[in-house]
Amino acid sequence: MQEFLSKAKTAFFEILFPPICIICSRNLINEHEKNINLCENCKTDIQKNNSLTCPTCKSRLPQNKNTCHRSSYYLAAATNYNDQKIRDLIWKLKYGKITAAAKPLSNLLSEHFNLLNLDIENPIVIPIPLHKNRKAERGFNQAELIATHFAKNQNLKISDGILMRTKYTPPQAETKTAKERHKNLENSFKIKNASVIENKTIILIDDVFTTGATAEAAISVIKEHNPKKVIVAVIAHA
Ligand SMILES: [Zn+2]
Ligand SMILES: [Zn+2]
Repeated sequence: MQEFLSKAKTAFFEILFPPICIICSRNLINEHEKNINLCENCKTDIQKNNSLTCPTCKSRLPQNKNTCHRSSYYLAAATNYNDQKIRDLIWKLKYGKITAAAKPLSNLLSEHFNLLNLDIENPIVIPIPLHKNRKAERGFNQAELIATHFAKNQNLKISDGILMRTKYTPPQAETKTAKERHKNLENSFKIKNASVIENKTIILIDDVFTTGATAEAAISVIKEHNPKKVIVAVIAHA
C-alpha cells in the first residue's frame, strides 16, 4: 500500500510537473533519464574522460599511472570544463541554484570512477567544504550535494564535517594570480577528527578543478594525518 501510494504520488506529480532535461528542457521518457534529470541525447553529447588526469598539465594518464608531473595525489576528472553542456550544468547548480543538477553531475563522476577501476582500500568520501558564511550565502554546498549522490552510487561512506573551512576567502574567480590564490588559501582548512583519516583512501570531492589550489590546500592538512592515498574526484577539470 505504502509503495502504491508513493507511486501514485509520483505519477500525479509528473502530470503537474513533467520531468524535463535540466540542459535542453526536453521531456524525459525513460526511468534512467528521469532518475538523473538528463536526457540521453545530452548525456551522450558530453565528452567524458576515460583516464586519470595529471593535476599539473591536465594530460591524460593512461593505465592510472601517475607518471607525468609528480604529484602527491591522483586526479579523477570526469569531464572537461570546455564542454558547453557541463559548464551549463555546473552553472545551473552553483549559481542558478538548481540543486537537481547535482544528480546528473554525480552520475557522470560515478561512471568515470567505475571506468578507472582504481585500487581503493578503506575509502571515505569527503566533500571540499565551504566556509559557513559562504554556505549560508549560497544556501548549500555544491560539493556536498555531489558527494552525497556519489557516495550513494558507489556505496561508500561519506564523512561530512571532518574537514572544515576555517577562513572566508574571496571566490577564486576573483583572485588573479596563482600566488594570490595560494596566499588566500593558507591555513584555510582544518581537520576535526584526525583518527578518521589515518590509513584511509580519501576521495576528496569538488565540482571543478582549475589550478588545484583549493584541493591542494585541503590535501596539505589531510596529509598530516597519514592517509593511505588521496584521490581528488571532480566533475570537470579546466
Ligand atoms: Zn537534454
Ligand atoms: Zn603533467
